[in-house]
Amino acid sequence: MQLKTELYRRLERYVKVDTQSDERSGTFPSTHRQLVLARMLADELRAVGAKKVRLDRYGYVTAEVPATVKGRKPVIGLLAHMDTAPAAPGKGVKPQLHRAWKGGDIVISRRLGVVLNVRGCPELAAHKGEDIVTASGDTLLGADDKAGLAIIMTAAEYLLKHPEVPHGTLKIGFTPDEEVGRGVEHFDVKAFGADAAYTVDGDVTGTVEEETFNADGLTLKVAGKSVHPGSAKNAMANAARVAAEIVASWPENLLPETTEGREGFVMFTDIAAETEKAEVSGIVRDHDLKKLKAMERQLEAIVAAARLKHPLAKIELSFKEQYRNMKAVISRRPEVMSNLLAAVRAAGLTPEIKPVRGGTDGSRLSFMGLPTPNVFTGGYNYHGRYEWVSLDGMNKSLEVLINLARKWAE
Ligand SMILES: [Zn+2]
Repeated sequence: MQLKTELYRRLERYVKVDTQSDERSGTFPSTHRQLVLARMLADELRAVGAKKVRLDRYGYVTAEVPATVKGRKPVIGLLAHMDTAPAAPGKGVKPQLHRAWKGGDIVISRRLGVVLNVRGCPELAAHKGEDIVTASGDTLLGADDKAGLAIIMTAAEYLLKHPEVPHGTLKIGFTPDEEVGRGVEHFDVKAFGADAAYTVDGDVTGTVEEETFNADGLTLKVAGKSVHPGSAKNAMANAARVAAEIVASWPENLLPETTEGREGFVMFTDIAAETEKAEVSGIVRDHDLKKLKAMERQLEAIVAAARLKHPLAKIELSFKEQYRNMKAVISRRPEVMSNLLAAVRAAGLTPEIKPVRGGTDGSRLSFMGLPTPNVFTGGYNYHGRYEWVSLDGMNKSLEVLINLARKWAE
């Protein structure tokens, strides 16, 4: 299957629409501009012949590709998000296609000195000879996740044009606001009507994801005792210093900047402090829930020691659940992953299962009752000026989706 031209035409069209989301917004979707792309996608779904195309008041675009086989088969959902990350400029994206990359520097912008090569991105090395797409140095590309949109749209068009390919009912869902962590807040899992789903929002070709972090938030509050510093001996408790001491006592090998793979961490994200009171917020992350809880006990022990050392201060530490590792839900339905792995192999690739160091829309959907692993798009270096996607990788991802549709109908 060779649909690279179609994939590129779509990617090019989608990345030119600014769909940056905004974490400070109180509306849903968080930015109005996402609806411009939502309307475009809904029109395009109608044009390729998808059924039940709908754009609802939250900006969710849903549609159906009807089954080509008789009898009750599991209904499979395919999902991608329309927004781009607030972390880098997303307006005025000018995509560039670097055909048949020979292995040297990919000059994204000579003027701005933005050059992509294997030194800066070792993952690129495996993609010699492929067509690489980048932006132009002053914005992100937005392959995260417009590559996903293009892949799903092209898969839908292909299946609608090829009724000889056996598959059950497929549901398509394009969602806003993934990058600000609210992507499925209003998503109606029941109305969507899928038995299992896949987000097409991963990265390097061949990788699939069924595991996310377990995530808790933390709040540390210190109430101090303010006394004139000239007469403070044995009478003052300086909340700012007590809070700083606790933060500095956390082991250096359990921080985001010193961990990778399956290693968990605590990150202190905000400190507001004065003599009378201090408040620290942070996050706790680990793929293993037991290890997450053990890190929390470890921080509690540090706090307990600080209480003994500073009896005049009042110190409170609390944790709040944010999300849980979706593997717990996905592994209850083994065929969700076994069909995906078989589909990746049938595309001629060796699947690599990678733990996500974060959350995905799929983790929330999984706990809403819809098991949803994540499939690669062929892209990398997301959320910045060095973002790239391989058109050949996108084409492989498309093949995986077609194989997956077949697999579920067996
Ligand atoms: Zn994404």
